[in-house]
Amino acid sequence: MFQLANLSGPFYLLGEGSNTVIVEDYIGTLVLNKMKGITLEESKNSYWLSVASGENWHDLVTWCMDKAIGGFENLALIPGTVGAAPIQNIGAYGVEVSAFIHSVEYYDIEEGAFVTIAGNECLFGYRNSIFKHKLQGRAFITKVNFRLPKHYSLVTHYGELASLCEPNMLDVYAKVVEIRRSKLPDPKFIGNAGSFFKNPVVAKEKATNILEHFPDAPAYPQEDGQIKFAAGWLIEQCGFKGTSLGGVQCHPKQALVLTNYKNASGSDVLTFARKISETVQSKFGICLENEVRLLGRNGLVEL
Ligand SMILES: Cc1cc2nc3c(=O)[nH]c(=O)nc-3n(C[C@H](O)[C@H](O)[C@H](O)COP(=O)(O)OP(=O)(O)OC[C@H]3O[C@@H](n4cnc5c(N)ncnc54)[C@H](O)[C@@H]3O)c2cc1C
Repeated sequence: MFQLANLSGPFYLLGEGSNTVIVEDYIGTLVLNKMKGITLEESKNSYWLSVASGENWHDLVTWCMDKAIGGFENLALIPGTVGAAPIQNIGAYGVEVSAFIHSVEYYDIEEGAFVTIAGNECLFGYRNSIFKHKLQGRAFITKVNFRLPKHYSLVTHYGELASLCEPNMLDVYAKVVEIRRSKLPDPKFIGNAGSFFKNPVVAKEKATNILEHFPDAPAYPQEDGQIKFAAGWLIEQCGFKGTSLGGVQCHPKQALVLTNYKNASGSDVLTFARKISETVQSKFGICLENEVRLLGRNGLVEL
């Protein structure tokens, strides 16, 4: 693997491909990450986990639950590898993985050297990190080091989790698995990459204007004063939920997810996604960004 610098021509790192849509025939080499291994240490107040980047994320969550190590329960059943988790700072049900990342180890492809970066230097944000910007295409994450506090509060305010009565971590884990199985299409059976679009975050003045016209729009104030809108709601209001185009379907239960239900090509996916994005833009004045990585002929492309 660390002969990457010697690969002739471009290459693209792939974990399990669950956040990547290949929209054209890529001209380079796909490098598949198969690094495995988990080590666990314990101090008075914390568990310290060091996990190789090719481990499956959900298996890690389940492994922790089996050992009564809490923290990851809200992030159960998110597909993909541990190494990809910091890239977009995976999150679900009110929890983001960045809360537990102590440091990330990567191989710097340009420098040909191993580097460790502290969690607080990773510039984590909503579905965002330094690995999508300055270190994009340059860092091959080899290991993620987590600190899980022994004493913490369960996060159960979000959606259907709020209905749980005095839950423990295993109850939250089981509920998250149940909700996700009932709402999200399993990529093993129907091709999809989870949420296709990010929830858009807009300036307060713009949000106020939108809310005057659409008072029912779900809107969530952010710490920086901006307002996050639910992209699924915006898409649904434009009438796309359950509709299809060229073999691509806007999922009937979750409008944020596009599925390949009938041999759609990469360009079919792009065509439908662009149509959705343009319609949302003209109805609400909000620009939707793709959350999934779109791999084109020469590398990543934007919508
Ligand atoms: C049904 C479904 C539900 C989902 N639900 C959620 C959710 O609730 N929350 C959420 O945040 N995400 C969700 N996702 C998105 C996805 O699960 C995550 O983004 C996951 O982290 C992707 O892992 P992967 O290994 O499959 O990544 P890949 O698609 O293989 O790669 C994603 C990106 O990371 C880069 N990358 C991968 N491994 C490495 C590495 N070792 N070093 C450097 N770069 C690397 C790739 O080059 C690519 O740019 C969902 C996806 C699906 C299909």
